[in-house]
Amino acid sequence: MKKPSIVILGAGYGGLMTAVRLQKMIGVNEADITLVNKNDYHYESTWLHEASAGTLPADRTRYKVSEVIDKSKVHFLHDTVTGINKEAKTVALTKGGEISYDYLVVGLGYEAETFGIKGLKEHAFSIANLNVARKIREHIEYQFATYNTEANRRDDRLTIVVGGAGFTGIEFLGELVNRVPELCSEFDVPKEKVRIVCVEAAPTVLPGFDPELVEYAVGTLERKGVEFKIGTAIKEATEEGIIVAKDEQVEEIKAGTVVWAAGVRGNHLVEDSGFENMRGRVKVDPYLRAPGHDDVFIVGDCSLIINEEINRPYPPTAQIAMQQGEVCAKNLAVLVRGQGELQTFTPDLKGTVCSLGEDDAIGVVFGRKIMGSKASFMKKMVDNRALYMIGGAGLVMKKGKFNVL
Ligand code: FAD
Ligand code: NAD
Repeated sequence: MKKPSIVILGAGYGGLMTAVRLQKMIGVNEADITLVNKNDYHYESTWLHEASAGTLPADRTRYKVSEVIDKSKVHFLHDTVTGINKEAKTVALTKGGEISYDYLVVGLGYEAETFGIKGLKEHAFSIANLNVARKIREHIEYQFATYNTEANRRDDRLTIVVGGAGFTGIEFLGELVNRVPELCSEFDVPKEKVRIVCVEAAPTVLPGFDPELVEYAVGTLERKGVEFKIGTAIKEATEEGIIVAKDEQVEEIKAGTVVWAAGVRGNHLVEDSGFENMRGRVKVDPYLRAPGHDDVFIVGDCSLIINEEINRPYPPTAQIAMQQGEVCAKNLAVLVRGQGELQTFTPDLKGTVCSLGEDDAIGVVFGRKIMGSKASFMKKMVDNRALYMIGGAGLVMKKGKFNVL
């Protein structure tokens, strides 16, 4: 009898976790497993704010997919997915034509959501993947390097605007405030010429997070030079900078760099492939399957799970993506063997830690508030745990963060 074929799309937290768990559960004779990813490496999306600011080399955030998969069980395709045909049960690839599946796992991750705001796609960066992170770092360095070469020095070249004070915006600001003094010294730029502005539409930074921790984060970042514009929305991005509005008041902020960290959505391929979705995210059934498609599992930022207690979606996180990968692998093993019961998925949230640079952070872990170096230590442990869960102790030794206080 032909072995069922399992195809996993994306080697992010959700897809890679599914693959490494599945390879432990399933024998070579039970199923053909194929993992497709557009790069031959996995990058830690949760470290991209560091690579973008230039406080961590881009190479530190990634490792080869081949380092963590068992090649006797998982066939890795270094290719880009261009479409999913649910009816024909095929996936179209850039290089490799079409591959067919019996079971599909969609783990294609997140993209920036720009809400149709004019000029953002053309004139702003978003911390979307490792390639863009490298571009942001280089772009900022270029602005500093260019400043002293111009006859008429443009101070606004040294203005960096961060749109959104959610976790991504705040973590990026935490890195920037540490990086800017290094850049000033390297490029002979007076520190007072640099402006870092954060624009947040909601009435507070980190909306919904603990107010005492928010106050700590704002105080820390302000002391290091960040200007917050709260209750102010980005309305447009232009070649010169951005247009913002607070109530009826419209203001232009000229800036050499604009980073949009004000929202994410699921991969556009989910929408293009005709799945019922909300901004590229599929409201999955309790077993993580797309409604009406029992052979398609969706994990990570392409999935949408409702928190029944508040009747709102859980914010998409790596924490949830990895937990989904574990359940998805178990469910695939049940289906392949035709025995056992499918497991339902409920997030088991341990907490949230938001870094404020190399040695500072805020967080709520197991219901307890933490801040400062203790929280920073915890953040590094969380980062190392993600490496451990996918690649074991060897990967932690190679890529882990040990520069704890
Ligand atoms: P991703 O990690 O986005 O991976 C998707 C994969 O699919 C990538 O490898 C990509 O290359 C591949 N891919 C995409 N398109 C294609 C294609 N067409 N063909 C082939 N391959 C493709 N969450 C936390 O829990 N804790 C944190 O501390 C945290 N920090 C964050 C910091 C930053 C700066 C950002 C931006 C996010 C952070 N998050 C954090 C959120 C977290 O990163 C995401 O929820 C998580 O990455 C989602 O995992 P995923 O597996 O769905 O997708
Ligand atoms: P987000 O949606 O959580 O936050 C975006 C912020 O931008 C919000 O505060 C929103 O009010 C603001 N905003 C929206 N439109 C705006 C506009 N026009 N002008 C100005 N501000 C505007 O997005 P995120 O911070 O990128 O986070 C994405 C996901 O990743 C979330 O689920 C988050 O929990 C997760 N994440 C977690 C961590 C962590 O745990 N340390 C770090 C980063 C991201």
